[in-house]
Amino acid sequence: MADAERMLENKYDVVIVGSGVAGLYAALNLPRDIKILMVCKREKKLSNSSLAQGGVAAVLSFENDSYELHTEDTLIAGRRENDLEAVDVLVHEGPEDVRRIIEYGVEFDRDENGELVKTLEGGHCRRRIVHYKDTTGAEIVDKLIRAVDTLENVTFSENTMVCSASRAKSGFSVDLLTDNGYKTVYCSYMLMASGGIGRVYRYTTNPAVATGDGIRIAYDMGASIKNLSYVQFHPTAFNDAQGREQFLISEAVRGEGAYLLNNAHERFMSRYDERLELAPRDVVSRAIIMESRRTGSNNFYLDITYKPAEFVKNRFPGIYAGCLTHGVDITKDLIPIFPCQHYLMGGIEVDLNSRTTVPRLYAAGECSCTGVHGHNRLASNSLLEALVFGRRAALDIKRCIDTGFAEVSAQDTQKDFSGAPMPKGLRTEIRSIMQRAYFVIPDEGAIHEGKKRVEAILQRLKSGKFAVTHDYCEALSLATVAYIILKEVDK
Ligand SMILES: Cc1cc2nc3c(=O)[nH]c(=O)nc-3n(C[C@H](O)[C@H](O)[C@H](O)COP(=O)(O)OP(=O)(O)OC[C@H]3O[C@@H](n4cnc5c(N)ncnc54)[C@H](O)[C@@H]3O)c2cc1C
Repeated sequence: MADAERMLENKYDVVIVGSGVAGLYAALNLPRDIKILMVCKREKKLSNSSLAQGGVAAVLSFENDSYELHTEDTLIAGRRENDLEAVDVLVHEGPEDVRRIIEYGVEFDRDENGELVKTLEGGHCRRRIVHYKDTTGAEIVDKLIRAVDTLENVTFSENTMVCSASRAKSGFSVDLLTDNGYKTVYCSYMLMASGGIGRVYRYTTNPAVATGDGIRIAYDMGASIKNLSYVQFHPTAFNDAQGREQFLISEAVRGEGAYLLNNAHERFMSRYDERLELAPRDVVSRAIIMESRRTGSNNFYLDITYKPAEFVKNRFPGIYAGCLTHGVDITKDLIPIFPCQHYLMGGIEVDLNSRTTVPRLYAAGECSCTGVHGHNRLASNSLLEALVFGRRAALDIKRCIDTGFAEVSAQDTQKDFSGAPMPKGLRTEIRSIMQRAYFVIPDEGAIHEGKKRVEAILQRLKSGKFAVTHDYCEALSLATVAYIILKEVDK
C-alpha cells in the first residue's frame, strides 16, 4: 500500500530498510497477514538497483550453458574466496527468481521469436545475462514497486530515514526521521536492504543514498561485519572529474565489442591479461591504473564507433543519451572513462537464510556479505543475489513466525534528538582519505594515516552532542564504514 502521508503506527511485525531489489522482493515473499513497514530514505526509485544497466546473470537454458559454468565463472572472478554453498544456492535458485519477476511483469529484451536475448559481460564464458535494453534495474524496480503497492499489509514510506536502531525485548526499536519529524517504531524482525557504500568515496557510480547506513546500524547493534574492504572499482565510468556520481558505461558495451584505448588511442589490455577487454573488473581496473603509470596519463577511452550506429543506439539507449548530455556521441566519438568505486562485496555477515549474527536481524542485497562474490563480484550477479537472498530472508522470517514467535512490545519513550549542528567538511575529508588511501591499488602509508584520522572523526561525531539530522547520520555511517575498511587493511 503506497501511503507516505499516512501516520506510521508504533508497532510492526517486520521493518524493511530499503526499496531496492532486495527489499522489494523480500516484501513480496513475506506472508500477507503480517504488518510490514518498508522505508527508504529518499524517493522510492533512488537506489543502486534502479541504476543497474547490464542485466541479471542466470542459467535460463541448458543449450549452451550450465550451472557448473556459471559457478566456475563466479569463482574465477571471486579469486576462489567465495562461499561455495552460497554460490550453489545463487546459481541453482536464481533462474526461478528471474522467472518469477517476469511473472510480476518485468520485461527483458526478446528476439523476433520471443526468446530472451542474452548478452555477455566481463568474466562470463557464455551469453547468459538477460537485460532490458541498458536500463534493466529501472525496469525491475518499477515492476516490483507496482506489485508491492498492491499489498494491503505493506506500508511504504518514502523520505523516511532510519537513523539508528537498538535491540528491544523480542525485536527492535527503530528511530526514524521523516518529513514530519522523528518517530520511534518497534518491530519483531528487521531486514537491512540498505544497499552500498559508494558515497564513502569521492568518485562512485552510486547515488546519494549509498552511505552505508544499514551497515553502521547493524554494527552498532553488535552484528558481525565481514570483508568490508572487498570494494569493487568499475573500470569504465564516464570520466567526469567535476561530478561525484559517475555515469556508468556498462561492461555490456565491452561485451558487445568495444575496445579499451589508452591516451595514444591504442588498445593496451594485451599487456596485462589475455582475456583483454573481457577480463574481470578488478583486473581491468588494475590494468588501467598500471597503464596510466606507464604512460603518465589518466586519459582512457572506450571505442564502439565501429559498430553500426543503429545497433548501438538501440542496444544502449540510456548510455547513448547519458553520454550525449556530456557532449559525447558514442556512435562517432570515443567515450572518456576511468575507474571509480562501484560495488561492495563485503558487508553485514549473513548465513544462507540471510540471518545476521544478531537474532531477528536479517540483511540482504549489497549491504550483506553472503560470500557469493568472494573477493570480486562477477558482473550481473548482484541483482541475482538481491533476489535470491531477499526471498530467503523473507521465507526464514515466515518460518519463524509460523513456529510461534514472541512479539516485540512497543514502549512509550521520549528521545532527545536535538543538539549542536555538525561541523562542516568532515564528509568531504573522509571521501578524500578513502580515494587516496584505498582506491584500485592501495597506498599503505595513506591507509595507516587515514585510519587514525577517520577514527578521530568517528570519536568526535559520537562524543559531541550533535543534532540527529540526515547529514549527521550519514556522516556517522561514512566514518564508521571508512574506519572498518581501513582497520581491516592496515597492516
Ligand atoms: C550504476 C550501477 C550499475 C549497476 N549495474 C548492475 C547490473 O547490470 N547488474 C547487476 O547485477 N548489478 C548491477 N549493479 C549493482 C546492483 O544494482 C546493486 O548491487 C543492487 O541493486 C543492490 O540492491 P539493494 O536492494 O541491495 O540496494 P539498493 O538498490 O541500493 O537500495 C538501497 C535502499 O536502501 C535505502 N536506504 C539506505 N539507507 C537507508 C536509511 N538509513 N534509511 C532508510 N532507507 C535507507 C535507500 O533509500 C534505497 O531504497 C549496478 C550498480 C550501479 C550503481
